Amino acid sequence: MMSADMKETLAACHDCDALYRRVPLRPGEQARCIRCNAVLYRTSRIGPDTMLAIVLTALITFVIANVFPIVELSVQGITSSSTLIGSVHALWGDKREIVATLVLATTLMVPLLDMLIMALLTSLALMHRRPPYFAPLLRLVQTGEVESITGRSVPVQADSICVHGDSPGAVEMARRIRARLEQAGVALHPFVD
Ligand SMILES: [Zn+2]
Repeated sequence: MMSADMKETLAACHDCDALYRRVPLRPGEQARCIRCNAVLYRTSRIGPDTMLAIVLTALITFVIANVFPIVELSVQGITSSSTLIGSVHALWGDKREIVATLVLATTLMVPLLDMLIMALLTSLALMHRRPPYFAPLLRLVQTGEVESITGRSVPVQADSICVHGDSPGAVEMARRIRARLEQAGVALHPFVD
């Protein structure tokens, strides 16, 4: 049986099962199987720390852009200006509620939501936290059901869990799944005794 250290330094091809020793990659590079050319593992061009810096910069720019006026009119010595949120307010006041709602959604709410979601996901990636895959997995093991995309419960006879080995965190994910399944009282058995 391989030790945990050996497993972390090895990468298995998910297409032909060839086993390789992992080598560090530069940003944007892929490691491919020399036998079948399948992708073994890859690195992102932009790491989560760079992405978080970009998203935070975008959020700061977004705040500055919405605090200062987007338009300023000066007629016969009288100057008036309006911010984006001010123009939404003016449209609503002119009884153009649909246009005001569209402007609010497309120029303020959706971009802000997009940036906040990106900030949350990149922060989770930096803390090495993964999306909550474990709850549906435990449900499958304990009740024999999975939830379909329509929300319907579908009975599934599952005897094994497949963790794809083409991501750098695959071994750690498999280790956590095993530990948490055992914590939940699920007995695990090797394929061959
Ligand atoms: Zn291969």
